[in-house]
Amino acid sequence: MNSNIKHFSHSEELFEQAQRYLPGGVDSPVRAFKAVGGTPLFIKRGQGSRLYDEDGNEFIDYVCSWGPLILGHAQPRIVRAVKKAVERGSSFGCPTELETTLARMVCEAMPSIEMARFVSSGTEAAMSAIRLARAFTGKNKVVKFAGCYHGHSDGLLAKAGSGMATLGIPSSPGVPAALTSDTLVAPYNDPEAAEQLFKEFAPDIAAVIVEPVAGNMGVVLPRPEFLEHLRSLTRQSGALLIFDEVITGFRVAYGGAQSLYNISPDLTCLGKIIGGGFPIGAYGGRKNIMEMVAPSGSVYQAGTLAGNPVATTAGIETLSILKESKVYDELERKSSHLAKGITEAASEARVDIQLPRLGSMFTIFFTKNIVTDYETAAKADTRLYAKFFHQMLAQSIYLPPSQFEAAFVSSAHTNSDIQATVEAAEKAFSSLL
Ligand SMILES: *Cc1c(COP(=O)(O)O)cnc(C)c1O
Repeated sequence: MNSNIKHFSHSEELFEQAQRYLPGGVDSPVRAFKAVGGTPLFIKRGQGSRLYDEDGNEFIDYVCSWGPLILGHAQPRIVRAVKKAVERGSSFGCPTELETTLARMVCEAMPSIEMARFVSSGTEAAMSAIRLARAFTGKNKVVKFAGCYHGHSDGLLAKAGSGMATLGIPSSPGVPAALTSDTLVAPYNDPEAAEQLFKEFAPDIAAVIVEPVAGNMGVVLPRPEFLEHLRSLTRQSGALLIFDEVITGFRVAYGGAQSLYNISPDLTCLGKIIGGGFPIGAYGGRKNIMEMVAPSGSVYQAGTLAGNPVATTAGIETLSILKESKVYDELERKSSHLAKGITEAASEARVDIQLPRLGSMFTIFFTKNIVTDYETAAKADTRLYAKFFHQMLAQSIYLPPSQFEAAFVSSAHTNSDIQATVEAAEKAFSSLL
């Protein structure tokens, strides 16, 4: 690896063909490299910390499938377990013991979850948690925060006007204003703005949904008092607090962000890591709330492939490995080494960056100001990021192809991977300005 002149002709050809049959050539927008320019890599295989593209290039991967692959690509124990599972049949449409096993593991990891329901994506988890919160409280309005992403369901596709909290305006054509009119948007990390919304709308607020550590505007760390304030506002008004831990669950700690910040939400959304690289999502919480879900209760929610035996097998294996080893200490050690190296390299080259990080999730923001919310994140220099991205790519380092996404370190990343990445960053920063 590390040949500096790379050819991407196979990826270019495949992207051409893909665009004929798939809108934009992809099945999820950010894969298309629109934010950084150039051709997306078409991937042939992954192994450990490495991605191999169709042109035979090898990369150290810091996207890790956007979060699920905390143990790296094709982890041998997961591959073995999944092969066996597939041989027994890939889907039954009947209950399996696997679902109970994975649900028990989730409940043991996060005591705020007494019962869980598996779905097939994080989008479904958040959408269903909101439905349940509305049914439980008999109220309709939902508070979300600008820059937080909770999947692409209609009601949650509202971002914000900047500055003051605003009523939800749909951020995609095709979402009727009526469907986001009950979505209230406040700035992240701003307890006063949230309090203001409660002053005005408390009797109608069913839930507050938040990424306890934001990952979808790039990584933005919460001020602890922000999360605490959300907990007390919801408790006082009878609204539910929903932590969207689709990224942070089993990422920042085995017990998720809720264990680190010691806050117990009413409902939690999970996905990504709990499927070990297979499609999954889950929502869970207190028993008296969860028992309202059909068939024990009347809140309808279903799924043909929900709790799929292959995905739950991969999830069980992943959580078992995370639980029995010192993965999180190791991830912290490697990630802090990486963050320190990158920060020093930037400073040496006089490039202004901010590097918010919690454990193995981080973002390199090209800005000199501290990033605390969507507004400050959006001030980052996206052109500089794009340039840096391509300089790193040329040196065999694959970072998220957008300034506003989290990068991830996996347990498969070696010390020499980290060292190689820091050295690449030194070169990239020094030729940036
Ligand atoms: C990825 C993500 C989702 C959506 O999950 P999908 O499986 O892509 O539908 C929801 N919430 C957060 C915080 C996420 O990071």
